[in-house]
Amino acid sequence: MSLGESNSIHVAIIGGGITGIILALGLQKRGVNFTLYERAPAFTELGAGIGFSPNAERALKVINPEIDRVYKQLVAPTHGVEEYFQWADGYRTSEIEAKLLIGVDCFQGGRRSDFVDGWSKLISKDSVKFNKELSFLVHRDDGKVSLQFKDGSVDEADAVIGCDGIHSRVRQLILGETNPASYASYTNKYCFRALVPMEKAQAALGTEQTTGSDKSLNRVMYNGPNAHIITYPVAQGQFMNILLVISDPHPWKTEDGKHTAAGSKGEALRAYEGWHPRVRAIAELLPEELQKWAIFDMCENPAPYYYRDSVAIAGDAAHAAGPHLGSGAGFGIEDALVLATVLEAVNEKLDVQGQKAKVELCQAALAAYNNMRYDRTQWLVGATREACALFHWQDENVGSDFGKFLPEITKRFHKIWKQDIDEMLRETREEFKRLGSELPN
Ligand SMILES: Cc1cc2nc3c(=O)[nH]c(=O)nc-3n(C[C@H](O)[C@H](O)[C@H](O)COP(=O)(O)OP(=O)(O)OC[C@H]3O[C@@H](n4cnc5c(N)ncnc54)[C@H](O)[C@@H]3O)c2cc1C
Repeated sequence: MSLGESNSIHVAIIGGGITGIILALGLQKRGVNFTLYERAPAFTELGAGIGFSPNAERALKVINPEIDRVYKQLVAPTHGVEEYFQWADGYRTSEIEAKLLIGVDCFQGGRRSDFVDGWSKLISKDSVKFNKELSFLVHRDDGKVSLQFKDGSVDEADAVIGCDGIHSRVRQLILGETNPASYASYTNKYCFRALVPMEKAQAALGTEQTTGSDKSLNRVMYNGPNAHIITYPVAQGQFMNILLVISDPHPWKTEDGKHTAAGSKGEALRAYEGWHPRVRAIAELLPEELQKWAIFDMCENPAPYYYRDSVAIAGDAAHAAGPHLGSGAGFGIEDALVLATVLEAVNEKLDVQGQKAKVELCQAALAAYNNMRYDRTQWLVGATREACALFHWQDENVGSDFGKFLPEITKRFHKIWKQDIDEMLRETREEFKRLGSELPN
């Protein structure tokens, strides 16, 4: 081995959201060298709530058991009872009309900021660089990728993984800046979200609608014409997370091109005019001034592939979906597990094949990742749009009929939740082996 060559690849992770952090912890656990570059001065996330689907919870354990340990400390307490998704007719009665069993002690929720804070502390400090906004990538003749940052600094890596979110710069660099697939588009849905102290929520809505008498996590979604509302407890039951999603026939236009705009409680209440009083009481819990969040996704112009040479995209950067099936972050976690697995396999193979194969092995690893993840993640983007149409009574075959709604929504959730993580990893290793065996010795 010549001076300066190490018998290990060095991976650059661009972006320290949930996908980037989990990938970093997966590589750390597997002894793969990496640097995580985040454009912000620190790891930051909103205080809003998030829940992790059962497939994501299983993947977290396999990626790195430490992630699971911290996760369990941060989620709302569960009490060994069966957890359900519950759908109410928000327009006519506010009564629960459909239920779907999730399992026992699963799909737990918490505050995003708590998870990001807790998990990022597990990453070795030497492996993180803040205030590093990626501008360009250059493929060098020696096979390495040169990373150029907005502050003028330059670094290098053997493989680059863009975990840089829905407006991914890495996606633009892979697909081209003029390619429509480099940009997300408006789903004609926007949302308001708020965390309300649980005491305040219980005083307004009662126990059944908030924490539930059986102490389950009591997630309730109120469906109706062109809108829905979801409530569930977070932060160990201290707060109720409220998400209002509203259909909007107009294009999203803001002067500064942002996906957020100033909104108000009055605007939210107008969307639920004529709805059942209990649902309007939930909207009344919102603060007077609110941020309005446009929901964008990658459905209209999907990325045709997730990698080129030694550069790949993962999480929202690859397949941003709306929030309606609660699985965007979960799919980023599955991506991270597959990536950590193939990149570890590169290091194992390097021991046998030597440095010459580094570039080809990295490319084979990212091709295997692409092949394993593309269909499932693209399916999620479309299924998420379909789910929102079901919640908003916009599906012509289903409308407001909860008898027809339940099987439709069940088949989508089951496809997400029942992912066999062990089988996914077995197939991933096989795929890498297949692609790797085609390389010259
Ligand atoms: C209202 C709402 C509710 C949701 N609820 C759920 C839920 O309950 N469960 C679930 O699984 N999913 C949920 N999702 C989806 C989930 O939030 C996302 O899928 C997930 O957060 C995406 O994580 P990410 O790390 O891929 O991207 P991001 O969180 O967007 O992180 C990208 C990171 O990259 C950094 N970055 C960007 N550009 C650069 C650059 N050029 N250089 C360096 N750094 C850069 C950013 O600063 C950021 O830190 C929800 C989404 C919404 C909108």
